[in-house]
Amino acid sequence: MNRLAERGARCSLSSIILEHKYPVLPPEYLFILELEQDEYFPFLAADEVPLLIRQAMQKGHTAAKQWGCEKSFSGMINLLLKEGLTVRFKEVHGEIPSIRAEYDRKQHRISIYRSSVSQIRQLFQDMNLSVPDKDLYLLHLVHEWFHHLEETKVGRTDYALPRATVKQKGPFALRKPLKRLREIAAHTFTQNALNLAWSPLLLDYLLLYRGKGWSMGQIRKTFKKDKERIRSMYDVEQTDNDSDD
Ligand SMILES: [Zn+2]
Repeated sequence: MNRLAERGARCSLSSIILEHKYPVLPPEYLFILELEQDEYFPFLAADEVPLLIRQAMQKGHTAAKQWGCEKSFSGMINLLLKEGLTVRFKEVHGEIPSIRAEYDRKQHRISIYRSSVSQIRQLFQDMNLSVPDKDLYLLHLVHEWFHHLEETKVGRTDYALPRATVKQKGPFALRKPLKRLREIAAHTFTQNALNLAWSPLLLDYLLLYRGKGWSMGQIRKTFKKDKERIRSMYDVEQTDNDSDD
């Protein structure tokens, strides 16, 4: 166990530098991959994409400034209970095992799946880092807390941001909200609230590719290809840590 885990220090996730072991992709690129999976993504023009990403990130960022101050597991549980939410811990999602956690607006309930927590624990253990489980639960709770804030305080990201124009037969076009923007805002909120050096969405990709048995080299190559493709298609701002390839 590392020093932080023995002490059970809060916010130890914020001390982790993933690129010490894993290939990484900056948040803006991960978010484009996320938005590309939205069912209405095909109706967006390429020049709308970077702006939508920036607006969704801004939403998460602003919400974190106002609401993202709780950084302990017990403090977060108390906050959620005060909001009238219940939190339940289950082994694995019954239908979709890749689901890590869920917010149920109607039931006022957050569910966290232990299978996800153990996957992430293992990812860090492979870096010789032992993160307290409470921090890993907190990582999930903060994300779902944002979805609750969307419903109660800050408004749903996909409703607030520009929608995709879906052309139908006939004279009318439909404006459809892009649900994946909610995830982009939630990941940004979580990263900011917990002061992480990486987007929590990066963990999803690392776990996905590891689950397929890919080597670090294969993951690195895939990220590099993604980056090149994204740069050729969209006007993405290049950050300092983009220059290492
Ligand atoms: Zn979410």
